[in-house]
Amino acid sequence: MYYRTHNCSELRLDNVGQNVVLSGWIDKIRTHGQISFIDLRDRFGKTQLVLNLDDCDVSDDLKKEYVIRVEGIVAKKEVANENLETGEIEVKVSQLKIINKALALPIDENASDEMRLKYRYIDLRKKENMDKIVFRYNVIKHVREYFDKNGFIEIETPMLVKPTPEGARDYVVPSRVNPGKFYALPQSPQLYKQISMIAGADRYFQVARCLRDEDLRADRQPEHTQFDFEMSFVNSDEIREFAEGLMKSVVLKFKGIKVDDFKTFSYEEAMERYGCDKPDLRFDLELINFSEILKNTGFGVFDDAQTIYGLAVEKDFSRKEIDALTEVVKIYKAKGLAYVKVSDGNFDGGVSKFLNEDIKNKIIEKSKIKNGTIFFVADKKKVARTSMGELRNKIGLDLGLKDPDKFKFCWVKDFPLFSYNDEEEKWEPEHHMFSMPKEEFVEDFEKRPGEVLGDLWDLVLNGTELASGSIRITSPDLQKRIMKFVGFPEDEAMEKFGFLLNAYNYGAPVHGGMGLGADRIIALLLGTNDIREVIAYPKNKNAQCPMDGSPANIYKKQYEELFIKSTNNE
Ligand code: ASP
Repeated sequence: MYYRTHNCSELRLDNVGQNVVLSGWIDKIRTHGQISFIDLRDRFGKTQLVLNLDDCDVSDDLKKEYVIRVEGIVAKKEVANENLETGEIEVKVSQLKIINKALALPIDENASDEMRLKYRYIDLRKKENMDKIVFRYNVIKHVREYFDKNGFIEIETPMLVKPTPEGARDYVVPSRVNPGKFYALPQSPQLYKQISMIAGADRYFQVARCLRDEDLRADRQPEHTQFDFEMSFVNSDEIREFAEGLMKSVVLKFKGIKVDDFKTFSYEEAMERYGCDKPDLRFDLELINFSEILKNTGFGVFDDAQTIYGLAVEKDFSRKEIDALTEVVKIYKAKGLAYVKVSDGNFDGGVSKFLNEDIKNKIIEKSKIKNGTIFFVADKKKVARTSMGELRNKIGLDLGLKDPDKFKFCWVKDFPLFSYNDEEEKWEPEHHMFSMPKEEFVEDFEKRPGEVLGDLWDLVLNGTELASGSIRITSPDLQKRIMKFVGFPEDEAMEKFGFLLNAYNYGAPVHGGMGLGADRIIALLLGTNDIREVIAYPKNKNAQCPMDGSPANIYKKQYEELFIKSTNNE
């Protein structure tokens, strides 16, 4: 027996008169007397079946979601159903076999997220949900082809790797044959792609699974997928140029949009102009540095502050709105939000009374605003810029300036190489410890860690970080110095990373690369922020899979085999 001559989206008027076999799920069933109309569904589409119970023996009641096989003749429908691709025909069923029955479905459109995850296979039967998985497949296929066309080869790096303290917490896997020893699941293929460059692979890519044992925020998953790549004998401009071409081709193919050349900002410039290292360029509003103009107003809050940053918005905000915006800047440690209203160039309200005419004129000249509201935060530079950046985002959102149909990419480069961890009181790599400091800092970065910039960048789309990349350190001595500086003295560095440091002793090409967040890219292309929608089997907020019940207990015997002490008695 065979199960189909066609799938459920294939039949057209050309097929009228043919005897066909279809299989699928009962999507809908309506019965009038002896006649039942069934919409038969598979991944490809739907076909209407007409079942005359006088002609065709069906021993059981048919129900929604039963899986059936039918044989019948294709006929022209009197009135075509324009909503279906196959809507011009119907199949007059002569034989019907129930392949499998189905219980009443446990989820409907009102189901909770948890239930939808538990019955993910049923949720995925909905066309719009499966379409997202198909879309994901198509994006990945296109990306693979793009890499292939450009001379990259896909290399599968191992899933069981050496635990290395790289940033996030590792998922660890005990080794049965090496009692007491552990593998880690890779946080990213970072070290292996660098080693592949030393091996001469030259242009590597991988659609790579990355696993990080982190507390989950709404937009994080314990495992995510990256378009991971590495290139030899290139500088950072060339790497960005390649990735820009890739992203442009993806957006053109899947959104039909020809995106502009990506703007490039240094980290410092992005912070100065947008108060943020991932600026949303869908709207133009920029921070204004009023520190010079406002340094001697006689108003203590301004005069005592290290810096004063402002935002000039062409809108007359109400008292209530201003109070709400004040709460936003406070979250980012600003002490308060000052403002003035401007109408036809005249100042009113807020801190206007502290500003003389000369200062007012300078403010107007700098902000180029005639009517609206100007906000100020006076604080330490970092606080003033960051809180204003967040205010900018909030205002952009509230005023509907974040058009979901726009795709505004930018590069943010020259990031600081280190950031200071106040809690642990130590310097940490901003990205990871394999990124190259900019030439001018190589000699004495230990002496001025706060100033050091790296040949290190992010790719940003609509205010979301999509990817990071860097030129890598290829000198074993410099790599050891960086490791020492971030807390791995030579003996510890050799124990953890000796395999990499050794590899660099045998001739390494200059190289660098990036890891692009595939789930996020695919989600943004689909206009959603929830990456779970584009992952076939995602985990919930507690890193559990409600469908398979993982993580789960293991048998006592397994603990014994792994030489691990068990705290449960199964
Ligand atoms: N492995 C890095 C990451 O996961 C990306 C890179 O530097 O290539 O962020």
